Order: sequence, then structure tokens, then C-alpha cells
Amino acid sequence: LELNLVPINQENQEFSGVLLVLQDVTAIRRLERMRSEFVANVSHELKTPIAAVKGFAETLLGGAVNDEETARSFLQIIYDESDRLNRLIGDILALSKIESKRIPLYFSPVDMDAFMTKTVTMMEAEAARKSIKLQLELEHGLYVEADEDRLRQIMMNVIANGINYTPEGGKVSVNIASIDEDHIRIQITDTGIGIPKKDLPRIFERFYRVDKARSRSSGGTGLGLSIVKHLVELHKGTIAVTSAVGVGSTFVIELPVLQQ
Ligand code: ADP
Repeated sequence: LELNLVPINQENQEFSGVLLVLQDVTAIRRLERMRSEFVANVSHELKTPIAAVKGFAETLLGGAVNDEETARSFLQIIYDESDRLNRLIGDILALSKIESKRIPLYFSPVDMDAFMTKTVTMMEAEAARKSIKLQLELEHGLYVEADEDRLRQIMMNVIANGINYTPEGGKVSVNIASIDEDHIRIQITDTGIGIPKKDLPRIFERFYRVDKARSRSSGGTGLGLSIVKHLVELHKGTIAVTSAVGVGSTFVIELPVLQQ
């Protein structure tokens, strides 16, 4: 609660009292706090790769450039960190556009069979690199009305996480089935490291990672799932997750078949 004292003046300008104004500012304060936390997070996330680029460039300039092997490994770090900066900025811009609904969505009927076969094929190389079996199970004849590019972004993000957080030789399976006449359910299940119970409610938050070092080393920005959640909601759908540490995780996305 915020208390304000407002002086009351009569027409003759003489002070004649005060008005006490009590206002519930919890919601406003919370929004302000979230906004400033986000700005602080963004600055921190951007500063880390910039510091690495600067530090390694300085060391090179200071003489390390003369040793070819060292120079190569430092340049590789500079390259990787610039790449990460690029991805980070791309994700931050995408998220801010999506959150302020400044992205147009182009809805059209999507044949899930053809669409998912193509999407899973696009992820196969990444899975093969870790000897992960990528499996698709689906009913034929399922359609949703969706923005195909955004739906692909949703699916690729969740499947890529499944691959990322699953050790070599594991499995990621995508299962699509109809729930009722109006909804379909997409389940992405992995046999990966899992997510501790206490972290589950937070993984859709911006920049939230269970293990920062692991996410960073696999190239994650910590923004993927918040982008996914917003995109699912723009399709009037829902996303949920269940997980067991050391066993694996299942992401469940439910989408309406038609946009109203
Ligand atoms: P990141 O870029 O770090 O992967 P995301 O927003 O995609 O960010 O995911 C947030 C966090 O949720 C990840 O850092 C990771 O800790 C956890 N996570 C997401 N997907 C999985 C998964 N399939 N298995 C285990 N942990 C996951």
C-alpha cells in the first residue's frame, strides 16, 4: 500500500485540510520489479560473452598471437562467444516482439503428418551427432490451424532441448494424438538428465536455467522455453512439463485444432 497526502485548497487558496489517499500498488511495483530484473539479467547475459571476447583479444594483442596454437584456440573462443552474443540478441529481440505481440501470425491448416515428418528430419543430424534415437509416432489425418513457421520454432526448440539434455545413446520421442474433436496433444519425451522438482515451475521463466554452466556449454540462451511458451499461447494452446531426475522429461503441448 502506498500512502499519499494531498492538500485540499479552498477557492480562497487557504489551506483547509489534507486528503489521505491509500493506493494498492502491489501489481504496479511487481511489474516494475520484473522489468528492472529483466534489464539487469539482459545486461549480465550480454556482459559475459563481451568480457570473454575482450579478454582473449587483449591477451592475443599482448603477445599470445605469436604462438599459433594458443592464437587458434583463443580465436575459436572469440568466435564462439560472438556467436553466442548473436544468438542471445536474436532471442532477446524475438522475445520482446512476441511479448508485445508485435509479430504477425499467419494461420493456415497444417497437416501434422507431413509437417512433423519434415521437422523431425531437420533435427536428425543433431540427434545423430550424439547417437540419440529420434522417434516420431503419430496418428494420420491430424490437422491444426497454426502459423507453420512458429509451430516449427516451438517443436524444434523443445526437441533440441531434449537432445541437449540427454546423454549419448538416449532417446527422444515425439508423440502426436488427438485428445478430442477440438484439440491435439504433442508429447516430447526424452531419456535425459531430468529437471529437479523445485525447478519445474520456473523453467519457462526468462533466463532461468537449472544448471547455468551446462546450458552455456551447450549454447543455450535460457530464453528458448519462454519463447516457446509465448508462441504456444499465441496459438491458444498450453504447455506443461513432467520430469524425474536421471530418468527424463516430458513436455506436453496441447493445441486447439482451429483458431476461433
Ligand atoms: P536453455 O537455452 O538454457 O536450454 P531453455 O529456456 O530452453 O534454455 O530451458 C531452460 C532450462 O530448462 C534449461 O537451462 C534446462 O536447465 C532446463 N531444460 C529444458 N529442457 C530440458 C530437458 N529436456 N531436460 C532437462 N532439462 C531441461
